[in-house]
Amino acid sequence: MSEKKESYVELKNVNKSFGGFEASKDININIKKGHLVALLGPSGSGKTTILKMLAGLENADSGDIYIAGTRVNDVKPKDRGIGLVFQSYALFRYKTVYENIAFGLKIEKRDKNYIKKRVNELIELVGLKGMEKRYPRQLSGGQRQRVAFARAIATQPQLLLLDEPFAAIDTKVRKELRGWLRELINEVGITSIVVTHDQEEALELADEIILTNHGKVEQTGTPSDIYNNPKTPFAAAFLGDNSVIENISEFKGFEGIPGKAVIRPEFVNVYAQDESIEHAASVDDAVVSKVVFKGNIIELKLNIKGSEITAYRNVGQKQVIQGENVKVFIRKVFEIDDTKASS
Ligand code: ATP
Repeated sequence: MSEKKESYVELKNVNKSFGGFEASKDININIKKGHLVALLGPSGSGKTTILKMLAGLENADSGDIYIAGTRVNDVKPKDRGIGLVFQSYALFRYKTVYENIAFGLKIEKRDKNYIKKRVNELIELVGLKGMEKRYPRQLSGGQRQRVAFARAIATQPQLLLLDEPFAAIDTKVRKELRGWLRELINEVGITSIVVTHDQEEALELADEIILTNHGKVEQTGTPSDIYNNPKTPFAAAFLGDNSVIENISEFKGFEGIPGKAVIRPEFVNVYAQDESIEHAASVDDAVVSKVVFKGNIIELKLNIKGSEITAYRNVGQKQVIQGENVKVFIRKVFEIDDTKASS
């Protein structure tokens, strides 16, 4: 529905400090037009600072920021062609759904007929038909974020920035909204950047993930690339439900690997004593220290060679209990080469 504007985003050697604290250290990012990119990292790793510099809400101390080929360091926020959706970017409380979405178009002094057509189109797009006259307090959290999204794209920005857009929404609705957002962004074709600390969200939503840590870009890649080929100890340990093992060479099958490694539960086979084992030569003994029922899966904590690792059993499998001796076959580990560590 919207015309695709030329859009592409680049940060070149960008630095930003608050007092003496370096929130962004030599950030280099390149985002393709039409891509949905997730800035993923732990709290305080500098994700929001990057977003704010793109939006012009913070100024970079050094480096260059380009949006659609234009250097925007000195361009005012309102002239950057950006749509914003923040977790706490509250809707106007005393404006209806319709008025909220129309706001930016009125500021642009678009003519009445255009505004009406565009707002109705957006209301349809975000699935809020019939709710035009409601006020934000009469909407669910998910519906409010739909309004926020429609409002953000109403003026056809060239870049959409979303900061933890679903953080305030409960788990089930959040998952639905995630799928909804992905489809919608495809449909609208707008280059988008989502800040999140939720790896599941980033893996599911994004074309590309930019992993941040201590103000730096740790790794960039497609979700499967980042997940399956973590390049730094931090990336290996941050993605997935991991156990970091100090001395992996003590584990059967990994004798040649020096130092640390990460074990992910999906690569761990657990066998109860009476179950037949496929790889008998490569199993280790372990003791079940905890059993957690997760609904669709049983999560186990296992003591093995002085470490604790996480493993899964399917709900349909014979259940093991706390204190039980089991056999463990580890199919794959992620080596952590500390010499490649970034500070
Ligand atoms: P979160 O997920 O918790 O929002 P984040 O990765 O988005 O974290 P930022 O908000 O970018 O992190 O903050 C990075 C660091 O910079 C934090 O340590 C934060 O305390 C600091 N910081 C951010 N804004 C300011 C500011 N205006 N003044 C001082 N320090 C700041």
